[in-house]
Amino acid sequence: MAEETTGKVKSGKTFDSAYGFSFSIAAGLVLFIAGLVISLTLGEGTSIGLIFGIPLLVAGLVIPLFMMRDLFRTKEIKEPCPNCGATIRTSDATLQLRCESCQQVINVREGKLFPAE
Ligand SMILES: [Zn+2]
Repeated sequence: MAEETTGKVKSGKTFDSAYGFSFSIAAGLVLFIAGLVISLTLGEGTSIGLIFGIPLLVAGLVIPLFMMRDLFRTKEIKEPCPNCGATIRTSDATLQLRCESCQQVINVREGKLFPAE
């Protein structure tokens, strides 16, 4: 039988991710527009606008990607089962799971495994 998990995602984490997501999009957009304005207004006939504008354009595209990569990276947990000692692999996005070896329901809290009541 396949691994049976009662995988619930923390509601607080979803809110933080949504907030960080829109913030990184907004920051990227501001940089991108600033870069676009600078390269269009100062760029006429000179390379000054391109020198300042292009890095801003690139930053506007790259920074949100970096921030988002950080947001969606979940910490992997590899801990022994508190009931039977079998190694359990899960992520910190999991709230509760069932041990494959002993079928005990395990709660996941701050990277540690606790037997459910
Ligand atoms: Zn177990």
